[in-house]
Amino acid sequence: MKVISELYINGKWQTPTADHTLTVINPATQVPCATVSLSNKGDVESAILAAREAFKGWSMTPAKDRAVLMNAVADEMENRYDDLVDAHVMTMGCPKKITGAFHVDCPIEAMRYYAKLALQMEEVEEKGSVLIYKEAVGVCAFINPWNYPLHQLIGKVAPALAAGCTVVTKPAEQTPLADLIMAEIFHKVGLPAGVFNLVFGHGSEIGPILSGHPQVDMVSFTGSTVAGIEVAKAAAPTVKRVCQELGGKSAYIITEDADIAAAVRYGVEDVMGNTGQTCNALTRMLVPSRCYQQVADLAISIAQEQVVGDPLNEATTMGPMSSKRQKEAVLKYIREGVAEGAQLLVGGTDMPGGVDKGFYVKPTIFSRVTSDMVIAREEIFGPVLCILTYDCLQEAIDIANDSEYGLSSGVFAKDKVSALNIARQLRAGQCYVQGSYFSIDAPFGGYKQSGNGREWGAEGMSEYIETKAVICG
Ligand code: NAD
Repeated sequence: MKVISELYINGKWQTPTADHTLTVINPATQVPCATVSLSNKGDVESAILAAREAFKGWSMTPAKDRAVLMNAVADEMENRYDDLVDAHVMTMGCPKKITGAFHVDCPIEAMRYYAKLALQMEEVEEKGSVLIYKEAVGVCAFINPWNYPLHQLIGKVAPALAAGCTVVTKPAEQTPLADLIMAEIFHKVGLPAGVFNLVFGHGSEIGPILSGHPQVDMVSFTGSTVAGIEVAKAAAPTVKRVCQELGGKSAYIITEDADIAAAVRYGVEDVMGNTGQTCNALTRMLVPSRCYQQVADLAISIAQEQVVGDPLNEATTMGPMSSKRQKEAVLKYIREGVAEGAQLLVGGTDMPGGVDKGFYVKPTIFSRVTSDMVIAREEIFGPVLCILTYDCLQEAIDIANDSEYGLSSGVFAKDKVSALNIARQLRAGQCYVQGSYFSIDAPFGGYKQSGNGREWGAEGMSEYIETKAVICG
């Protein structure tokens, strides 16, 4: 069992001043896999003050030197690739064979991507007598969820370091290992002391300290909408910049003239990936009434292709839910869907065949779902797909937009041109057209209650930049 007994503050490994620990459970075996010593208020404040002190030097370090260090971090992430994979397998139950592709490759690419963008920080725009500079926002506090631990961390840290910001980060309680490895990597490559600081703790306890501290200039939060609102409230009195990356209930429109087989396969696999614990999963599939039976038959057979089980087994495509709490939340929604009158096409609340322990949930598909049902409105965050039907395209667009969320969306139509016409009418921060996948170049973030910031792409770095105008006489 891994024992994490130290925090990483001001370039040093430090024992927390409090004597509280939490236990991390391997969700596939239900056996403890790590203990973590938790930070108290004093530890968090030391980390913030270290970041404040380090900001003076790091923000003034030439961008090319910051880029050199960031590329060294990427090299070291490659050296620690297997450790990063194991961290996800152990704490999330992600199938080992696909963990690198799902969780590690993109963060390494992102470190190099933002190292390149760092150089743009030194571009000065001249408009007559006005000079416009880009400057770093300052000390940033990061609070992350457990569903893509490394991806979420690097999506914030890489653009922040590139811009010249310093960082205090708090991972989710369930997934501290990837962050720990990253702290070891930053230490090894010689990132200056205080530029990256790592604390551990419960969100409800140390989250408000990070969000409310007057020496923090910006807080970037990824997680549930409920906690995101708390973060924004705590940050308001000090007028911090707040970036919220929150939940979703994304719609996916399949048109009658689309390649139905390809469209349904893409949609079902999208929802089942990462055991359904993906904020931008296309969990509401909207299909023409006339194609319903064809879609239902295809969806059942694609869900049944999933191999649910031991993450260490090469054939496994779907592991357990990340925690007992998450499994119980998903089962509650499945029971609710049945009670609301949706038709359970496949899956349900029983343990999948072949496993007798672990927080597993069967790949589950509901049809005959209507927009007013709880399972169509709330984020389930598990391998549960809802199929809704529509009679005309405008009805599909209206159903898609009838949500408090607006994180992502998808369209599979006859061709790209028809799909783009629909995509522009969907109120969501992203739209995946004709079966496309995540791109590091694509700004990622929500409309409505899915959030207000952007990560990834050049826009993801803008979040960490202040604009200074110097007007010359
Ligand atoms: P969560 O909100 O419970 O926890 C996320 C993080 O917030 C954890 O580190 C937790 O400790 C912390 N936290 C909890 N209460 C807090 C508070 N009052 N103040 C400050 N921090 C607090 O969410 P979760 O269950 O870990 O993650 C799942 C949610 O995250 C889903 O809703 C999912 O859609 C969302 N998510 C969004 C994105 C995105 O980019 N939009 C990406 C991944 C996950």
